[in-house]
Amino acid sequence: MSVAQIDLHAELKKYFGFSEFKGLQEDVIKNVVEGNNTFVIMPTGGGKSLCYQLPALIKEGTAIVVSPLIALMKNQVDAIRGVSENDGIAHVLNSSLNKTEVKRVKEDITNGVTKLLYVAPESLTKEENVEFLRSVTISFMAVDEAHCISEWGHDFRPEYRNLRHIIKRIGDNIPIVGLTATATEKVQEDILKSLGIQDAVTFKASFNRPNLYYEVRPKTKNVDADIIRFVKQNEGKSGIIYCLSRKRVEELAQVLQVNGIKAVPYHAGLDAKTRVKHQDMFLMEDTDVVVATIAFGMGIDKPDVRFVIHHDIPKSIESYYQETGRAGRDGGEGHCLAYYAYKDIEKLEKFMAGKPVAEQEIGHALLQEVVAFAETSVSRRKFILHYFGEEFDNETGEGGDMDDNVRFPKPQKEAKDDVKV
Ligand code: ADP
Ligand code: MG
Repeated sequence: MSVAQIDLHAELKKYFGFSEFKGLQEDVIKNVVEGNNTFVIMPTGGGKSLCYQLPALIKEGTAIVVSPLIALMKNQVDAIRGVSENDGIAHVLNSSLNKTEVKRVKEDITNGVTKLLYVAPESLTKEENVEFLRSVTISFMAVDEAHCISEWGHDFRPEYRNLRHIIKRIGDNIPIVGLTATATEKVQEDILKSLGIQDAVTFKASFNRPNLYYEVRPKTKNVDADIIRFVKQNEGKSGIIYCLSRKRVEELAQVLQVNGIKAVPYHAGLDAKTRVKHQDMFLMEDTDVVVATIAFGMGIDKPDVRFVIHHDIPKSIESYYQETGRAGRDGGEGHCLAYYAYKDIEKLEKFMAGKPVAEQEIGHALLQEVVAFAETSVSRRKFILHYFGEEFDNETGEGGDMDDNVRFPKPQKEAKDDVKV
């Protein structure tokens, strides 16, 4: 089917109710519909899902979507089922299904009902699944969160490494669509190489978040008092405070509570019921602040988070970008405040001590970028965007004055400061 014959706007409206495509979506979708290998790099919230969902609904056959998180797959499947009378239009294939459910999924695929099949990479390695998928019509293969393929990404999953091999077995000429929110050159190269799609047409959206204000403060022993002051100045606004350890999360949440701030803790050590409760309290505005480890945030879409504080500096610029990116999703104010002390970097280095050498080297290199970011006197935005391979001009670019180094330039260092004695 030629893409010129399809009214993509009409399809968008019909299935999703949207009147306009966001950013590069339309170009991406055309490319996917045409059956080309495609590589999509868009920040979180950029609208990557639609880039494979709409083509899947249009094209003949079933699109396979590889995604690392079962919870995210379920959300997406539920959303897609909403667009159709037939529940079979989207399915998940993973280890949580019983025999009857698996049978139903396979029937729907065989009968051409299922347009989207979400699978975890582990399920794709199962021989019986590969055999089955070989025998049906696959429109294309989407690899979501494709940075999981790369050890340079923030979320490496060894199962992702095998994908190319498995896709080849399912079908020799299946177009592949890789999608990620990680824009560093190394990760991009890894993805293209590992998926064997060096010929892919690449679509990269800007990573600039003009409404976010970036600030780094030196971390002193008064950090808690400083945070309390900041939160009180922003009373009634929603915010997330990230800490490295569960212990610190608990302590800080308590300190805030004692100081009359509505705050709850969130970390993987809490039981599931408490985690859900605290997350819901945040979404329902029953609490202003969530003090959390990085366990909090994935898949949480609260549009009016007004500040993200890093009590401890993250382990990479990608993590920093992801976590601060949860502020100001609605385009409104978003203050990103990080506390930095070099001894925290040493702490992070120590965590890596037992790991394989290659992993340590990568971790170390990523940390050095964090140090450079924290200590730079260059615009934070410029630094972040440069890290993601984007040139930014503070004079002409959107949000050019939205960081501490631009608003309050550091006094020029005197030459003698640089001389080691
Ligand atoms: P990503 O995977 O890039 O983080 P998502 O695919 O989850 O982003 O989309 C983020 C949000 O944007 C979702 O709420 C989605 O419904 C919305 N969205 C996507 N495309 C459009 C569009 N064309 N118009 C309006 N909203 C859109
Ligand atoms: Mg996504």
